[in-house]
Amino acid sequence: MASLLLLVLLLSAIATYMEAAVPVLNALKIFKVIGQLKTLKRTGWVQNEVSLPESVADHMYRMSMLSFFITDPTINRDKLMKICLCHDLAEAIVGDITPYDGVSKEDKKKLEEDALRKIVSDIGHAEIADEILSLWLEYENGTSPEAEIAKNLDKFEMIIQADEYEQAQGKRLDRFFESTKDSFTHPEVLAWNNALRDDRDTRLRNL
Ligand code: ZN
Repeated sequence: MASLLLLVLLLSAIATYMEAAVPVLNALKIFKVIGQLKTLKRTGWVQNEVSLPESVADHMYRMSMLSFFITDPTINRDKLMKICLCHDLAEAIVGDITPYDGVSKEDKKKLEEDALRKIVSDIGHAEIADEILSLWLEYENGTSPEAEIAKNLDKFEMIIQADEYEQAQGKRLDRFFESTKDSFTHPEVLAWNNALRDDRDTRLRNL
């Protein structure tokens, strides 16, 4: 009898939280939108004729992993990781627009914000939609220390990838190193950046 009561309580608890769950059809729709990032190739590599260029999802995965290695005690690492996971989500709709595509910064921002708002409005769950939107806006506007570090990680992930393509494909991808040379502000990322550039300089000297 007691176990039957427990079962009823458990089923009613499940029914209660399932009422507040993301509607299944909405969930499938958003999962497919997120999946677009797995095949969306990063434009910078395509423009530089990198063979088999990585996807936007590839980039966001390593960037999110990099956040594990930030030991700065003033940083909320969980939040940093979530920002990394969400920061390029709008690209699932608008694609990967680079500074070389002839789209102004303002237009890019507007296109991406509109796309992101559309994506989250389709989730059918206000709390999750608000969380993703606010993490994305925080990154875009650089309004927290976590957002600032995420911007550092975004650029660092790009140059470590450029370094790997240079080595694997015998290319020179100077543009990526030049455009980011003053981008790093956080001491931990700055140290990684300096070490990577020293390594690269040595490699290029020995070619
Ligand atoms: Zn990015």
